[in-house]
Amino acid sequence: EKTPVTLLGLGAMGTALARTWLSAGHPLTVWNRTPARAIALAAEGAQVADSAAEAVAANRLVIVCLLDDASVEEALAGTDLAGRDVANLTTSTPAQARARAEWARERGARYLDGGIMAVPPMIGVPEAGGYVFYSGSQELFEQHQETLAVPAGTTYVGEDAGFAALHDVALLSAMYGMFAGAAHAFALIRNEDIDPAALARLLADWLAAMAPTVHQTADQLRSGDYTKGVVSNLAMQVAGTPTFLSTAEQQGVSPELLSPYFELMRRRLAESSGEEDLTGVIDLLVH
Ligand code: NDP
Repeated sequence: EKTPVTLLGLGAMGTALARTWLSAGHPLTVWNRTPARAIALAAEGAQVADSAAEAVAANRLVIVCLLDDASVEEALAGTDLAGRDVANLTTSTPAQARARAEWARERGARYLDGGIMAVPPMIGVPEAGGYVFYSGSQELFEQHQETLAVPAGTTYVGEDAGFAALHDVALLSAMYGMFAGAAHAFALIRNEDIDPAALARLLADWLAAMAPTVHQTADQLRSGDYTKGVVSNLAMQVAGTPTFLSTAEQQGVSPELLSPYFELMRRRLAESSGEEDLTGVIDLLVH
Protein backbone atom coordinates (compact mmCIF):
# COMPACT_ATOMS: atom_id res chain seq x y z
CA GLU A 1 0.00 0.00 0.00
CA LYS A 2 1.43 3.34 -1.07
CA THR A 3 1.18 6.19 1.46
CA PRO A 4 -1.63 8.60 0.53
CA VAL A 5 -0.45 12.15 -0.03
CA THR A 6 -2.15 15.53 0.21
CA LEU A 7 -0.58 18.29 -1.87
CA LEU A 8 -1.43 21.97 -1.48
CA GLY A 9 -0.35 24.12 -4.42
CA LEU A 10 -0.46 23.27 -8.11
CA GLY A 11 1.88 25.83 -9.58
CA ALA A 12 4.66 24.77 -11.93
CA MET A 13 6.46 22.94 -9.13
CA GLY A 14 3.41 21.52 -7.34
CA THR A 15 2.04 20.10 -10.60
CA ALA A 16 5.35 18.41 -11.38
CA LEU A 17 5.46 16.89 -7.87
CA ALA A 18 1.84 15.73 -8.13
CA ARG A 19 2.42 13.77 -11.33
CA THR A 20 5.26 11.75 -9.82
CA TRP A 21 3.12 10.54 -6.91
CA LEU A 22 0.27 9.69 -9.24
CA SER A 23 2.55 7.72 -11.58
CA ALA A 24 4.08 5.91 -8.62
CA GLY A 25 0.61 4.82 -7.51
CA HIS A 26 0.22 6.97 -4.40
CA PRO A 27 -3.38 8.04 -3.70
CA LEU A 28 -3.20 11.83 -4.10
CA THR A 29 -5.49 14.59 -2.87
CA VAL A 30 -4.77 18.04 -4.26
CA TRP A 31 -5.95 21.55 -3.61
CA ASN A 32 -5.14 24.78 -5.42
CA ARG A 33 -6.47 28.29 -4.80
CA THR A 34 -7.40 28.59 -8.48
CA PRO A 35 -9.39 25.37 -9.04
CA ALA A 36 -8.81 25.26 -12.82
CA ARG A 37 -5.22 24.16 -12.26
CA ALA A 38 -6.46 20.86 -10.79
CA ILE A 39 -8.54 19.78 -13.80
CA ALA A 40 -5.78 17.97 -15.68
CA LEU A 41 -4.64 16.17 -12.52
CA ALA A 42 -8.17 15.04 -11.74
CA ALA A 43 -8.23 13.36 -15.14
CA GLU A 44 -4.97 11.64 -14.20
CA GLY A 45 -6.47 10.22 -11.02
CA ALA A 46 -6.05 12.86 -8.30
CA GLN A 47 -8.81 13.60 -5.81
CA VAL A 48 -9.54 17.32 -5.90
CA ALA A 49 -10.50 18.95 -2.59
CA ASP A 50 -12.73 22.03 -2.53
CA SER A 51 -10.75 23.67 0.25
CA ALA A 52 -7.34 23.48 1.87
CA ALA A 53 -9.06 22.30 5.06
CA GLU A 54 -10.71 19.41 3.21
CA ALA A 55 -7.40 18.45 1.59
CA VAL A 56 -5.57 18.52 4.94
CA ALA A 57 -8.31 16.40 6.52
CA ALA A 58 -7.93 13.74 3.80
CA ASN A 59 -4.44 12.45 4.65
CA ARG A 60 -1.86 12.43 7.39
CA LEU A 61 1.03 13.43 5.07
CA VAL A 62 0.52 16.97 3.80
CA ILE A 63 2.96 18.45 1.28
CA VAL A 64 2.81 22.21 0.82
CA CYS A 65 4.27 23.88 -2.26
CA LEU A 66 3.00 27.45 -2.49
CA LEU A 67 4.55 30.69 -3.67
CA ASP A 68 6.01 31.98 -0.40
CA ASP A 69 5.60 31.86 3.36
CA ALA A 70 2.78 34.44 3.31
CA SER A 71 0.75 32.21 0.99
CA VAL A 72 1.30 29.26 3.33
CA GLU A 73 -0.04 31.36 6.21
CA GLU A 74 -3.07 32.34 4.15
CA ALA A 75 -3.81 28.88 2.75
CA LEU A 76 -3.43 27.00 6.04
CA ALA A 77 -5.30 29.46 8.26
CA GLY A 78 -8.39 27.66 9.48
CA THR A 79 -7.17 24.15 8.67
CA ASP A 80 -6.90 21.55 11.43
CA LEU A 81 -3.29 20.36 11.50
CA ALA A 82 -3.56 18.21 14.63
CA GLY A 83 -1.90 14.85 14.02
CA ARG A 84 -0.67 15.84 10.54
CA ASP A 85 2.80 15.41 9.10
CA VAL A 86 3.48 18.63 7.24
CA ALA A 87 6.34 18.85 4.74
CA ASN A 88 6.55 22.42 3.52
CA LEU A 89 8.55 22.72 0.30
CA THR A 90 7.72 26.40 -0.17
CA THR A 91 10.89 28.49 -0.47
CA SER A 92 11.47 30.53 2.67
CA THR A 93 14.21 32.05 4.79
CA PRO A 94 15.66 30.07 7.71
CA ALA A 95 13.81 32.36 10.16
CA GLN A 96 10.50 31.84 8.37
CA ALA A 97 11.06 28.07 8.39
CA ARG A 98 11.82 28.05 12.14
CA ALA A 99 8.74 30.15 12.87
CA ARG A 100 6.63 27.88 10.65
CA ALA A 101 7.93 24.81 12.52
CA GLU A 102 6.94 26.36 15.84
CA TRP A 103 3.56 27.34 14.36
CA ALA A 104 2.97 23.75 13.23
CA ARG A 105 4.09 22.33 16.59
CA GLU A 106 1.59 24.59 18.40
CA ARG A 107 -1.12 23.12 16.15
CA GLY A 108 -0.17 19.54 16.96
CA ALA A 109 1.62 18.70 13.71
CA ARG A 110 5.05 17.26 13.02
CA TYR A 111 6.95 19.54 10.65
CA LEU A 112 9.60 19.20 8.00
CA ASP A 113 10.84 22.12 5.94
CA GLY A 114 12.18 21.61 2.44
CA GLY A 115 14.33 23.47 -0.05
CA ILE A 116 13.98 22.22 -3.61
CA MET A 117 17.27 22.00 -5.52
CA ALA A 118 15.62 21.39 -8.88
CA VAL A 119 13.46 23.05 -11.50
CA PRO A 120 10.16 21.43 -12.50
CA PRO A 121 11.57 19.51 -15.54
CA MET A 122 14.03 17.77 -13.17
CA ILE A 123 11.23 16.47 -10.93
CA GLY A 124 10.61 12.76 -11.43
CA VAL A 125 13.80 12.45 -13.50
CA PRO A 126 16.37 10.86 -11.15
CA GLU A 127 19.21 11.14 -13.67
CA ALA A 128 18.75 14.95 -13.71
CA GLY A 129 20.29 14.99 -10.22
CA GLY A 130 17.73 17.25 -8.54
CA TYR A 131 17.02 16.78 -4.85
CA VAL A 132 15.29 18.39 -1.90
CA PHE A 133 16.97 19.50 1.34
CA TYR A 134 14.88 18.58 4.37
CA SER A 135 15.22 19.75 7.95
CA GLY A 136 13.06 19.57 11.05
CA SER A 137 11.39 16.45 12.43
CA GLN A 138 13.74 13.53 11.81
CA GLU A 139 10.96 11.13 12.80
CA LEU A 140 8.72 12.51 10.09
CA PHE A 141 11.55 12.37 7.57
CA GLU A 142 12.42 8.76 8.35
CA GLN A 143 8.83 7.60 8.40
CA HIS A 144 8.01 9.16 5.03
CA GLN A 145 11.37 9.10 3.29
CA GLU A 146 10.24 6.61 0.65
CA THR A 147 7.25 8.77 -0.29
CA LEU A 148 9.29 11.99 -0.18
CA ALA A 149 11.88 10.40 -2.47
CA VAL A 150 9.37 9.80 -5.28
CA PRO A 151 9.70 13.26 -6.94
CA ALA A 152 13.43 13.83 -6.28
CA GLY A 153 16.34 12.79 -4.09
CA THR A 154 16.22 13.62 -0.39
CA THR A 155 18.99 15.17 1.69
CA TYR A 156 18.24 15.57 5.40
CA VAL A 157 20.34 18.30 7.01
CA GLY A 158 19.23 18.34 10.64
CA GLU A 159 16.57 18.94 13.28
CA ASP A 160 16.85 22.73 13.00
CA ALA A 161 13.93 23.51 10.67
CA GLY A 162 15.86 26.48 9.24
CA PHE A 163 18.72 24.36 7.90
CA ALA A 164 17.04 23.25 4.67
CA ALA A 165 16.45 26.88 3.68
CA LEU A 166 19.95 27.80 4.81
CA HIS A 167 21.57 25.09 2.69
CA ASP A 168 19.35 25.98 -0.27
CA VAL A 169 20.34 29.65 -0.09
CA ALA A 170 24.03 28.83 0.50
CA LEU A 171 24.21 26.71 -2.65
CA LEU A 172 22.28 29.19 -4.76
CA SER A 173 24.43 32.07 -3.45
CA ALA A 174 27.56 30.26 -4.61
CA MET A 175 25.85 29.70 -7.94
CA TYR A 176 25.25 33.44 -8.34
CA GLY A 177 28.92 34.08 -7.64
CA MET A 178 29.73 31.68 -10.45
CA PHE A 179 27.20 33.41 -12.74
CA ALA A 180 28.84 36.75 -11.90
CA GLY A 181 32.28 35.43 -12.81
CA ALA A 182 31.01 33.94 -16.07
CA ALA A 183 29.23 37.21 -16.92
CA HIS A 184 32.51 39.11 -16.50
CA ALA A 185 34.35 36.55 -18.64
CA PHE A 186 31.81 36.83 -21.48
CA ALA A 187 31.91 40.65 -21.21
CA LEU A 188 35.70 40.57 -21.71
CA ILE A 189 35.35 38.85 -25.11
CA ARG A 190 32.08 40.53 -26.13
CA ASN A 191 33.62 42.87 -28.68
CA GLU A 192 36.28 40.50 -29.95
CA ASP A 193 36.29 37.94 -32.72
CA ILE A 194 35.93 35.08 -30.24
CA ASP A 195 33.02 32.66 -30.43
CA PRO A 196 31.06 32.76 -27.14
CA ALA A 197 30.39 29.05 -27.61
CA ALA A 198 34.12 28.34 -27.67
CA LEU A 199 34.62 30.36 -24.49
CA ALA A 200 31.65 28.58 -22.91
CA ARG A 201 33.31 25.17 -23.43
CA LEU A 202 36.51 26.42 -21.82
CA LEU A 203 34.61 28.06 -18.95
CA ALA A 204 32.56 24.98 -18.16
CA ASP A 205 35.69 22.84 -17.91
CA TRP A 206 37.65 25.44 -15.93
CA LEU A 207 34.89 26.07 -13.41
CA ALA A 208 34.46 22.32 -12.94
CA ALA A 209 38.22 21.94 -12.43
CA MET A 210 38.28 24.73 -9.84
CA ALA A 211 35.13 23.71 -7.96
CA PRO A 212 36.85 21.08 -5.76
CA THR A 213 38.94 23.85 -4.12
CA VAL A 214 35.95 24.24 -1.77
CA HIS A 215 37.18 21.09 0.01
CA GLN A 216 40.49 22.76 0.84
CA THR A 217 38.60 25.83 2.07
CA ALA A 218 36.53 23.60 4.37
CA ASP A 219 39.65 21.84 5.60
CA GLN A 220 41.25 25.20 6.45
CA LEU A 221 38.10 26.46 8.20
CA ARG A 222 37.95 23.28 10.30
CA SER A 223 41.61 23.36 11.31
CA GLY A 224 41.84 27.15 11.66
CA ASP A 225 45.08 26.98 9.69
CA TYR A 226 44.54 29.01 6.53
CA THR A 227 48.03 28.24 5.24
CA LYS A 228 47.33 24.49 5.08
CA GLY A 229 47.96 23.14 1.58
CA VAL A 230 48.10 26.62 0.08
CA VAL A 231 49.10 26.67 -3.58
CA SER A 232 48.58 30.29 -4.62
CA ASN A 233 48.95 32.49 -1.59
CA LEU A 234 47.07 35.70 -0.84
CA ALA A 235 50.04 38.04 -1.40
CA MET A 236 50.63 36.59 -4.86
CA GLN A 237 46.93 36.74 -5.75
CA VAL A 238 46.55 40.35 -4.58
CA ALA A 239 49.63 41.26 -6.63
CA GLY A 240 47.82 39.79 -9.63
CA THR A 241 44.64 41.84 -9.29
CA PRO A 242 45.86 44.88 -11.30
CA THR A 243 46.19 42.58 -14.32
CA PHE A 244 42.50 41.74 -14.08
CA LEU A 245 41.43 45.34 -13.55
CA SER A 246 43.64 46.69 -16.37
CA THR A 247 42.41 44.01 -18.75
CA ALA A 248 38.81 44.90 -17.93
CA GLU A 249 39.57 48.57 -18.59
CA GLN A 250 41.33 47.77 -21.89
CA GLN A 251 38.32 45.74 -22.99
CA GLY A 252 35.89 48.50 -21.98
CA VAL A 253 34.34 46.29 -19.29
CA SER A 254 33.14 47.50 -15.90
CA PRO A 255 35.04 45.85 -13.02
CA GLU A 256 32.00 46.11 -10.74
CA LEU A 257 31.46 42.36 -10.38
CA LEU A 258 35.11 41.61 -9.60
CA SER A 259 36.31 44.56 -7.54
CA PRO A 260 34.32 43.86 -4.33
CA TYR A 261 36.07 40.50 -4.01
CA PHE A 262 39.48 42.02 -4.79
CA GLU A 263 38.83 44.70 -2.16
CA LEU A 264 38.20 42.01 0.46
CA MET A 265 41.40 40.22 -0.56
CA ARG A 266 43.36 43.47 -0.11
CA ARG A 267 41.79 44.11 3.31
CA ARG A 268 42.64 40.62 4.47
CA LEU A 269 46.22 40.93 3.21
CA ALA A 270 46.62 44.15 5.19
CA GLU A 271 45.84 42.35 8.44
CA SER A 272 47.39 38.92 7.91
CA SER A 273 50.35 37.00 6.62
CA GLY A 274 50.33 36.88 2.83
CA GLU A 275 51.20 33.19 3.12
CA GLU A 276 47.62 32.11 3.65
CA ASP A 277 44.90 31.13 1.20
CA LEU A 278 41.78 33.18 0.29
CA THR A 279 39.91 31.63 3.22
CA GLY A 280 40.45 34.68 5.46
CA VAL A 281 38.03 36.63 3.26
CA ILE A 282 35.24 34.56 4.81
CA ASP A 283 36.03 35.97 8.25
CA LEU A 284 35.75 39.51 6.90
CA LEU A 285 32.21 38.79 5.72
CA VAL A 286 30.89 37.43 9.01
CA HIS A 287 29.72 40.02 11.52
P1 NDP B 1 4.04 29.15 -9.22
O1 NDP B 1 4.08 30.63 -9.29
O2 NDP B 1 3.96 28.36 -10.49
O3 NDP B 1 2.81 28.70 -8.32
C1 NDP B 1 2.53 29.36 -7.11
C2 NDP B 1 1.49 28.56 -6.36
O4 NDP B 1 1.22 29.23 -5.13
C3 NDP B 1 0.17 28.43 -7.09
O5 NDP B 1 -0.39 27.19 -6.76
C4 NDP B 1 -0.62 29.58 -6.49
O6 NDP B 1 -2.01 29.39 -6.57
C5 NDP B 1 -0.18 29.47 -5.06
N1 NDP B 1 -0.43 30.67 -4.27
C6 NDP B 1 0.19 31.88 -4.37
N2 NDP B 1 -0.29 32.73 -3.46
C7 NDP B 1 -1.22 32.05 -2.75
C8 NDP B 1 -2.07 32.38 -1.68
N3 NDP B 1 -2.03 33.60 -1.12
N4 NDP B 1 -2.90 31.44 -1.20
C9 NDP B 1 -2.93 30.20 -1.75
N5 NDP B 1 -2.17 29.82 -2.78
C10 NDP B 1 -1.32 30.74 -3.28
O7 NDP B 1 5.30 28.71 -8.36
P2 NDP B 1 6.08 27.31 -8.37
O8 NDP B 1 5.09 26.19 -8.35
O9 NDP B 1 7.10 27.33 -9.44
O10 NDP B 1 6.84 27.40 -6.99
C11 NDP B 1 6.28 26.92 -5.78
C12 NDP B 1 7.38 26.93 -4.73
O11 NDP B 1 8.43 26.08 -5.18
C13 NDP B 1 7.98 28.32 -4.50
O12 NDP B 1 8.23 28.53 -3.13
C14 NDP B 1 9.27 28.25 -5.30
O13 NDP B 1 10.26 29.12 -4.76
C15 NDP B 1 9.66 26.80 -5.13
N6 NDP B 1 10.59 26.37 -6.15
C16 NDP B 1 10.27 26.55 -7.47
C17 NDP B 1 11.19 26.25 -8.45
C18 NDP B 1 10.88 26.47 -9.88
O14 NDP B 1 11.81 26.43 -10.68
N7 NDP B 1 9.63 26.67 -10.27
C19 NDP B 1 12.53 25.72 -8.12
C20 NDP B 1 12.74 25.51 -6.69
C21 NDP B 1 11.80 25.86 -5.77
P3 NDP B 1 -2.86 29.98 -7.83
O15 NDP B 1 -2.77 28.92 -8.90
O16 NDP B 1 -4.21 30.15 -7.28
O17 NDP B 1 -2.20 31.27 -8.23
